[in-house]
Formats: sequence, C-alpha cells, structure tokens
Amino acid sequence: MTRLFADLFNPSQTDPDRTAVTIDGRSLTRAELVAAARGFALSLPESSGPIAIQADRSLRTVVAAVGCIAAGVPFVPIAPDAGAAEREHVLTDSGAAYMVGDVVPPTMTTLPVDLAGTTHSADPLPRTPDAETAAILYTSGTTGVPKGVLISRSAIASGVEALADAWQWTAADTVAHGLPLFHAHGLVLGVLGSLHIGSPFVHTGSPTPANYASVSATMFFGVPTIWNRIANDPEAARALRDARLLISGSAPLSVQTFERIRTLTGHALVERYGMTEMLIALSTRADGERRPGWVGVPLSGYTTRLRTEAGEAVPADGKSVGRLEVRGPSLFSGYLGQPSATDDSWTEDGWFITGDLAVVDERGFHRIVGRESVDLIKSGGYRIGAGEVEECLRNVTGVGEAAVVGVPDEDLGQRIVAFVILENPGGDAASTGDLGDQLIAHVADELSWHKRPREIRFVEEFPRTPLGKVQKKLLLEEATSMP
Ligand code: ATP
Ligand code: MG
Repeated sequence: MTRLFADLFNPSQTDPDRTAVTIDGRSLTRAELVAAARGFALSLPESSGPIAIQADRSLRTVVAAVGCIAAGVPFVPIAPDAGAAEREHVLTDSGAAYMVGDVVPPTMTTLPVDLAGTTHSADPLPRTPDAETAAILYTSGTTGVPKGVLISRSAIASGVEALADAWQWTAADTVAHGLPLFHAHGLVLGVLGSLHIGSPFVHTGSPTPANYASVSATMFFGVPTIWNRIANDPEAARALRDARLLISGSAPLSVQTFERIRTLTGHALVERYGMTEMLIALSTRADGERRPGWVGVPLSGYTTRLRTEAGEAVPADGKSVGRLEVRGPSLFSGYLGQPSATDDSWTEDGWFITGDLAVVDERGFHRIVGRESVDLIKSGGYRIGAGEVEECLRNVTGVGEAAVVGVPDEDLGQRIVAFVILENPGGDAASTGDLGDQLIAHVADELSWHKRPREIRFVEEFPRTPLGKVQKKLLLEEATSMP
C-alpha cells in the first residue's frame, strides 16, 4: 500500500469520527469520506481510463478524487466554469470517457457519486492501489495552452509531507481556504494534503475577506489577490489574529501586502512557491525567518540551482538572476502525450527546468523574479526583470498594482510597457497623463534610465487566471496590437 492516505484508508484509523472535510456547511467525517470514496471506487467500470471531475466546490469533488485514488485510477479535475474550448481541450487531451459532473458532454458517460456510500464500505477495493498516476492536472495556461501534468501518488505524499515538516502541520491543525478545487494548490495541497495529514479541511466559500474571517482554523491558504483584499479589510484581517499560519502562494506577493497583513494580524505571511509540475519546492518555515519578497528555502528533500542560459552556475549572492532548476520527490512524471515537451523540461543531468527566474542568497533564501518567457525583458542590450520595475511602480503612492511587459520594438528589441491599476481610479485624463510621466521618471530615478517604461497604460483590472495570476501573454497582445 502506498504512503498516500495510508492512515485515512486504514480501517483501524485513529480518528474515524473526526471531521475530514467541510464545504458549504456540509461535512463528512473521515469514516464517512472513506465509505463514500470506496463506494465510488467500486462503482467504476473496468478499464475506465482517467475520470474527469467537474471540480466544483463540493463534497462530490472530494469524494470522487479520493475514490479515484482508492481505485488507482487517475482523475482529471476540470474548472466548473471552464469555457467550451478549455473544457474540450482537457477532455480530448486526457482521453477521459467517464465524467463526474452536472454538464457532461453527450459523448461521455456520467458517473454518479453517492455521498452516503454505506453499501460497499466493507468490500475490498477492486484495483491496484499503487497505480502510478494519481492525477492529471492541467497547468494554469498562463504562458500557453494548458499541459496535462502526470502526478503520482508518491509525489503527492512527498510534497505534502515536506510541507508538513516546514509548517509544523499536524492533525491538530484545521486548514481553511477559499481556492478553487481544480488546481494543485487548492485541491492537492489543501484538501488532499489535509486528508493525508489528518487535519480537518474547511472551505471558506468564495474567497472574500468576510468569509475568511468567519472560519475558525489554524492555517489559512490564499493566493496574493485574496491577501490583497484582506489587507484592505482591517476588520476581516483582525479576525485572523488567532490563526497559527497565514500562507500565500501561486503568484508573487507584494511587499506592501505582506507588511499590511503583518500590521493587521500580527502574522508574517508564510510564502511558498510551487508549480503544477512539482506541487511545491520552496517555502518559508514556521520556525524560520519570513522575508517580504522572498519565497523561502528548499523544503526538506529538495535541492535547487541557478544557471545561466549557457548552463553556467549563477552565484548565490542575493542579486544575480538565473534560471531556477529543481530536484525533489514531488516532481511530475511527464506531460501527457508530449514526450518532447517532457524531455525539454529536464536538463541532461536530471534537474527540472522551472522556467522561472530567481535570485538566491548565501543562506538559501529564494526570490522569484518572474517567468523567463515573459518577465525577462531584453531592451537596448540590457536584460531587465519585469518584477523589479513592477515593485518600483507599486511603491508610488496611489498605485495599486503594476504589470510590466516587453513589447517588440524595432529599435530596442523590446520596449517596456507598464500596465497600472490605480488605488482610486477615476482621476481625469489630464492628471493621469501627468501621473504616467511621474511614474516613468520615478523608475528612471530609483532604478536606472534603461529600466524606465516607455509607456504607462492605466487599466481597471488585469486579465487573470482563476488563481489570480496575471496573464501577461494577453497584456502583451494588448500592448502590441493597440498603439
Ligand atoms: P502554464 O504552465 O500553463 O503557463 P502556470 O505556470 O501559471 O501556467 P501553474 O503551474 O499553476 O501554471 O503555476 C506555476 C507558476 O506560478 C510558477 O512557475 C511561478 O511562475 C508561479 N508561482 C507560484 N508560486 C509563486 C510564488 N510564491 N511567487 C511567485 N510566483 C509563483
Ligand atoms: Mg507553468
């Protein structure tokens, strides 16, 4: 029997009556969840292939995912509100013929989930519980078409156990978040992680500050957009004072939000860095330093290195930028049906190429600078990190958020264009024009002349993924097409 859920699936488990998961006010105990998951596992047809799950915020999603793991059949979570093209891509690419959901395409067979699941609870499980692939998770599609990432059971167990070590996460904790249940962060680390560790999991409902404030938990997970909102809602933030750890990940957290949350809650946010392909790799530790702007150190069992494009080592001096490469126990087994993309994501000596740019200091602290494909801007012969310019813009009073892209330019190679969201939009056009000039001058003064944006565009919102990642590809298209 595999390590994943060894305790949960053990018939003599210590706490069968303890709450396992609560979503929208409905709970299942550990024993009830196992019974329902076993019932689902036993109902699966022979040689079903991967099972697609319309992964809404529901107990059904959790029971179906755990049931697939019990049966040794990979599950494929799909965003409940995915557009037709995205849905079609995931269903076709994964080859799923069976689906749990309300809106199942006519070409597929619907699988019901019985939450009571009492009938088969004593029967043995039908399949190979050690099956390699636990899940096929699709990447967020921030940089291109989402890729199907094959995640094994041992990868999930290892990633969760490494986090438990870093965060002192135990069965005595209660975990809460308001994240979607179709990504690694919300579903695998949040929900399945809690089931593996034994900590009850509570979904907050939609991730509003008030909903976070209304849940009693020791650990809250969130993405930066959620922490930004909580930082702007002092009353809700203060309700989180009694938590043990507030945790941010999936996208860059601004220093301002870190500081505001610290002032309001007394907690320095724990930051973690992961990817669908590796679940998790870096985090600040429960008992360690939390440094705003830095995502922490490699988890126990993980190693990282920074290299140049030419493959030379980049010094760990706290300022030199390199490509981040990772080794560790929770790495994926490959991209589904894409052997060459899989090969390309590993170095010849076996390191996973994250595609992210980072800085490391002497003590192993990492700062994520951005994505190599969109955040490394080559302008006028200089290499400029978008993140540095964004942070500089965000430091200006009145600026809420900034996103910087490199737009193709005949003269410079790439020209820096900054998209800016103001804290209080609605100023008249003339004053926005002045502000644009001021922002450009500010970057030139604070950083250097060649890092100044050539153009500032004021917008009300950035295109984002469901986890709040800024879709720079779309911003780049907008900046390129609109003069
Ligand atoms: P796609 O691979 O389809 O383009 P994606 O990379 O956004 O989409 P995910 O696997 O959900 O899909 O996201 C992983 C990425 O999220 C990382 O490569 C990194 O750029 C970013 N990320 C995750 N955690 C952090 C963090 N703490 N700080 C900054 N960036 C982060
Ligand atoms: Mg990616």
